[in-house]
Amino acid sequence: NKRVFLFHEGNASMRELLGGKGADLAEMTKAGLPVPYGFTITTASCRDYYTHLGHIPLTLIEEIRTALRSLEQTSNKRFGDPLNPLLLAVRSGAVTSMPGMMDTILNLGLTDETVEGFALATGDRRFALECYARFIQMYGHVAMDIENNAFSKILQQVNLESEAEHIGQLPIEKLEELISKYKQMILHRAKKSIPQNVEDQLIDAVRAIFRSWSNPRAKVYRKVHKIPEDQGTAVSVQEMIFGNRDETSGTGVLFTRDPSTGGNEMLGEYLPAAQGEEVVSGTRTPFGITYLKQTMPSVYEQLHEAASLLEELYGDIQDIEFTIEKGQLYILQTRNARRTAQAAMKAAVDYAEEGIITKEEALIRIEPEHLNQLLHQSIKVREEDEIIASGLPASPGAVSGQLVFDAETAESWASLGKRVILVRRETTPQDIHGVIAAEGLLTLRGGMTSHAAVVARGMGTPCVCGCEELELREDTKELICSNQIFREGDVISIDGGTGKVYAGEIELREPEISEELTRMLDWADEVKRMKVFANSDHPHEVRLARKWGAEGIGLCRTEHMFLSPSRLPLVQRVIVAGSNQERQEALQRLLPVQQSDFAEIFMEMDGLPVTIRLLDPPLHEFLPKLEVLEGRREHLKMITLDGDTDELEKVDRVIQKVKELKESNPMLGQRGARLGIVFPEIYDMQIEAIFRAALQCIHQGIKVMPEIMIPLIGHANELSVLRKLVDEVAEQVLREERIHCPYRVGTMIEVPRAALTASQIAEHADFFSFGTNDLTQMTLGYSRDDAERKFLNHYVEQKILPANPFEVLDQEGVGELIRIALEQGRSLKPELAAGICGEHAGERDSIFFFHNAGLDYISCSPYRVPFARIAAAQAQI
Ligand code: ADP
Ligand code: MG
Ligand code: MG
Repeated sequence: NKRVFLFHEGNASMRELLGGKGADLAEMTKAGLPVPYGFTITTASCRDYYTHLGHIPLTLIEEIRTALRSLEQTSNKRFGDPLNPLLLAVRSGAVTSMPGMMDTILNLGLTDETVEGFALATGDRRFALECYARFIQMYGHVAMDIENNAFSKILQQVNLESEAEHIGQLPIEKLEELISKYKQMILHRAKKSIPQNVEDQLIDAVRAIFRSWSNPRAKVYRKVHKIPEDQGTAVSVQEMIFGNRDETSGTGVLFTRDPSTGGNEMLGEYLPAAQGEEVVSGTRTPFGITYLKQTMPSVYEQLHEAASLLEELYGDIQDIEFTIEKGQLYILQTRNARRTAQAAMKAAVDYAEEGIITKEEALIRIEPEHLNQLLHQSIKVREEDEIIASGLPASPGAVSGQLVFDAETAESWASLGKRVILVRRETTPQDIHGVIAAEGLLTLRGGMTSHAAVVARGMGTPCVCGCEELELREDTKELICSNQIFREGDVISIDGGTGKVYAGEIELREPEISEELTRMLDWADEVKRMKVFANSDHPHEVRLARKWGAEGIGLCRTEHMFLSPSRLPLVQRVIVAGSNQERQEALQRLLPVQQSDFAEIFMEMDGLPVTIRLLDPPLHEFLPKLEVLEGRREHLKMITLDGDTDELEKVDRVIQKVKELKESNPMLGQRGARLGIVFPEIYDMQIEAIFRAALQCIHQGIKVMPEIMIPLIGHANELSVLRKLVDEVAEQVLREERIHCPYRVGTMIEVPRAALTASQIAEHADFFSFGTNDLTQMTLGYSRDDAERKFLNHYVEQKILPANPFEVLDQEGVGELIRIALEQGRSLKPELAAGICGEHAGERDSIFFFHNAGLDYISCSPYRVPFARIAAAQAQI
């Protein structure tokens, strides 16, 4: 039950007990750095202080006395000695650094008597009095609760009278006057004087530091930074070093590397003839650290060596406080510096290359937010920029562009080379071409997992969602924000990293894929076990996926290719075809289009696996809405002449079809494999297109690795039927040309029943791909399109759920299904490949789970690939 640790008794791992500052002072002492000697009173003592209503037990006082004796021995001075007094710094230090939030008292141990001894010992009475005045102020403020202002008013007055700029310029008589004025003021306000017994000073100071743990600003700080209330602060007691001694003394702060770029040069400030926080307090203007290099090069050199040693000890950029007394350097504090993502990345790579940390340690340091900041444009915030609304930061990155209100305009304007931002109340799959064309997306409704957000993140398009304070008038194409109206073509800017919307053009910061990031990603690939694939539907996305380092395509959604305006009519013709022949004709026209898409993707991937999912969504998604059709019908009826009813009949047919296809629960309806079984012609055409594309590539000497994926299987028999279809069509196409092309057929596991009967399903599958979006929806029974808006946010706020299960995999439920499916599947087929292709493949905790579950690959949006590579490596480490 030890409560006091001399510096040489502690080390950096004892933060919980000694606080960050105390642990680091101990560590630095051990490493042989010039640290003034001292001891630390534990955080546990502070907690006791609070539970014992402010009582400091004798046992603690005894321990402090014992430690003091050691300090006296090493310093060759005595605490309270009237001839050669030992002076102390009494410093606060929490487990988590809370800079400036708690208190520190310097020059403790000075009394009316010892100050004269101190004057004699140093041979400088002026200096001794200055120290005493400083002590009285700090002690009066911290231990006697007198506000600083009361002292600075007196000091200013005295400075003024003697034309001094700061306390260091006051002559002896003025310092004596200052001290006596301070004392009077204290007596008047506190009705008592500063203790003249040094031990009382010390114990009162310790008590005051304990108390400073619960001062209002510290409390607020803890709330903001989520630091637990009950930790308490440690107190470090240390021999004083006097930066205010003379002109060869001073005090400074220092970053061992540039905290904004990570550049390998020291950056800091220095103030000669100064004490404590004067260097950062703004009362005097400090010099850059190079001043020290010019005036005291050998001290600068020592400081540089100390900085290197500290970086080696901590393996990170350090934020150091130091003081120099008569040309002698002392380190008073070190901690990991707050730095930008860029600096953190560069420093980590540099340290790994300098051999200070391992590659694995460097990789572990990368935080998801770091990559977000590094890979996306952001807004250079300027004062004149006008924020017109705030929504959810749904997909990071910032853009300026012209406002458009519908997908068609977005597409046509973009094709003219305009940069557009598409604003919608909410987006649906039908807006996809507009979403692809737009530089940015703004929606009024919907949360972080709404359609717009998912799609935007998938494509790396900046997106702000759920901007409810805006009003949209679709008929007049106006966007209204309190008192301003924005019309089609007006320029606005959005920052999907912060959720802010701005009027007009905004200055942007370009993302750079730095050399360091590239290096880090290479290391990640060396380390990780799982492969990282990308979900990409279009050749241009595939190109991007390769650029970001995807090792394959894990999900190519064929329906996204159907949605472009030139193809949609063909797809619609397939759906509403009156006869089999009509349908076949339409399919034959669609075939070459699909084939050329696939060929392009195969070429881009150059032999890497490409997983193509056959048509998945319900067919009604490809047809116009019933209201729209009925409106059109009314219109036609009015303008149609007798006998010429062709057009009208066509519309009627479509209306008929839409009614036929209508379902109450389309997400649980005729889609995926069910569609493939009822309308085999469509799958037939898609499979043919895949193999014709493969042949086309093989003829050009390009290797291909098609993987055909059947969605929404719930029963092994479904897969058995559809696998046969794939094999037959493949065989037909390949036989025509007598060419061999290896391929695999697999299934998505996204219906709980499939997971529970995986051994039967594995019989017909070469691979499993867990579609965790649908699997989550069906396992929890939450509609992905509505849940967030209705209740999910409440659930998360009230801690009924730990997180939104569409963002962070529900490991206990959905994860359990994945485990069961893998175990069953692999017990039947040990070589069964398995991966995941949902949103979760881009989320850190989920990635760790997939790694531990034994998945072979994860497939995420191209933009998340770098992040997934790092996270997969972190999971391995
Ligand atoms: P904070 O946690 O607010 O940074 P510190 O305990 O570091 O508070 O003390 C504030 C300042 O007091 C330090 O930056 C340093 O300039 C000065 N100081 C602390 N300890 C000593 C010491 N032993 N000798 C001289 N000055 C000191
Ligand atoms: Mg400090
Ligand atoms: Mg699905």
